[in-house]
Amino acid sequence: MSVLPILKWPDPRLSQLCDPVGADEDVDQLISDMLETMYDAPGRGLAAPQVGVMKRIFVMDCGWKDGDMTPVICINPEFVTRSDDLVTGEEGCLSIPDAPADVTRPERITLRWRGLDGVVVERALDGFEAKCAQHEYDHLDGLVIFDRLSDEDRARIEGAYLEALT
Ligand code: ZN
Repeated sequence: MSVLPILKWPDPRLSQLCDPVGADEDVDQLISDMLETMYDAPGRGLAAPQVGVMKRIFVMDCGWKDGDMTPVICINPEFVTRSDDLVTGEEGCLSIPDAPADVTRPERITLRWRGLDGVVVERALDGFEAKCAQHEYDHLDGLVIFDRLSDEDRARIEGAYLEALT
């Protein structure tokens, strides 16, 4: 396993649509590297494009900072349901260090994905898990937290982030 470099915004690869993973594609090594990278960061979610691999895969582990490691590996995830109820909460991103933003998203989702063993999993998520999964899913569509903000908030928060880079 190895820790991979995490791309930082505004790397153009973070704005690209990712490709589905083929049924016979071997992504075991990639996923083990993604998990190691996420825990090392340390973060609670990481999407493949954040390490420069344009594939529809993300990993997350929402509780490990408070207890045991329980990694969730999502290959080709898709939303089955998204609640009409919305919730706003602060989100950070490993690709956008030190620039958290309040993002509004559906409060509850049902997500379907393929696990590492090829088994299709469907799970209802709420709370932090729902927020994290939607954040990581956005990366697969080339979207980051800045893309979820009003023009005014984006100009302020992204502006300060870009300013700090120079
Ligand atoms: Zn992110």
